[in-house]
Amino acid sequence: MSEQDKNIKDLKILITEEQIQTKIKELAQKIETAYNTNEDIYVICVLKGSVMFCADLVKEFKHNVQMEFIRISSYGNETKSTNNLHAIDLTLPNLEGKNVLIVEDIIDTGLTARFLTDLFKIKHHPQKLLFVSLLNKKCARQIDIEPDYYGFEVDNKFVVGYGLDYKGYFRNLPYIGYFPL
Ligand code: 5GP
Repeated sequence: MSEQDKNIKDLKILITEEQIQTKIKELAQKIETAYNTNEDIYVICVLKGSVMFCADLVKEFKHNVQMEFIRISSYGNETKSTNNLHAIDLTLPNLEGKNVLIVEDIIDTGLTARFLTDLFKIKHHPQKLLFVSLLNKKCARQIDIEPDYYGFEVDNKFVVGYGLDYKGYFRNLPYIGYFPL
């Protein structure tokens, strides 16, 4: 028995798999150019939502890459931000003087992005810190912060797919969609 209370038949596609993959190639090229060095890139995958994006993005990099994973939660099982960050695992190696790339799925209120940016600057002292988010919900912003790079701007909808979930479901979809009200 599935506990899923939304039906995939009702899902409307917002960004196709092809659009996502094309955008990722563009982003990877811009990000690599921005590091302006051949040194390794430490890619920080913010679980769980950015798992698909991060996996596809690193495949496009020509640099040597080290992948690290941290886990933060802010939505719980809701479709609106709880404004309540829950840092589940922030374990990382020494990143001092390294090229670091934070990879997020979506920036909504900006709370997580602010928290992560401050954390990395204050605690880890990277040589260069860049922030990429696949999606950018600018209209929902409560904190004045923008990623260095993002793939697509989305309006104030709750989106799922390609790593983004609703109650743990739909992460496995290769595209991004939403449930019309
Ligand atoms: P923020 O801290 O910017 O409000 O929220 C960041 C996190 O909230 C994202 O990493 C993501 O996990 C979650 N989130 C924000 N908007 C959405 C959305 O439309 N759909 C889903 N599934 N998660 C979202």
